[in-house]
Amino acid sequence: MLLAGADIFARLLDRCVVSRHGAAMVSRVHRPLPMELALHEARAGAELGEVPVGAVLVDGRNGALLARAHNRVETWSDPTAHAELLVIQVAARRLGLKRLVEADLYVTLEPCAMCAAAISLARLRRLYFGAYDPKGGGVDHGPRIFEQPTCHHRPEIVGGLEETRCAALLREFFALRRAPGEAEDGRG
Ligand SMILES: [Zn+2]
Repeated sequence: MLLAGADIFARLLDRCVVSRHGAAMVSRVHRPLPMELALHEARAGAELGEVPVGAVLVDGRNGALLARAHNRVETWSDPTAHAELLVIQVAARRLGLKRLVEADLYVTLEPCAMCAAAISLARLRRLYFGAYDPKGGGVDHGPRIFEQPTCHHRPEIVGGLEETRCAALLREFFALRRAPGEAEDGRG
């Protein structure tokens, strides 16, 4: 069954937001667990043929889960459907807020320039990312968005959180895609 874009987004929204009252606690010590959820999202994305990047947005004050997502670039044929953008969009719409000043983002890969700009626009409090991305990253590499004079909000940044596992997931995904006999259309 084909779904209109709005229906797909509504379903994603239902799946992403655990509690509309913000009562679903991720953890009181909330640093390790959100990255676990982000890794779980990344693996779920890989099963759909998406580059395994997962993102989780939590309320930094109490650890409440605001949204979780993996990339949807392939499934939606949308080059902008990166996990970070999706969690920001879902949380902002659900909360009715254009700025998420208490929110912390956990993402398995260094955000690209587009997502870094969105993080700045959304005024996120903290950014935790896993693997560094020398080819496509926009935080520690390339345009270094947060260091530009035209960037008006820089979150606190922690890079390399669970870096080994996040990087391994990406490496395995691309190794499988390159493996002989692994047909591109073999994902069903
Ligand atoms: Zn991105």
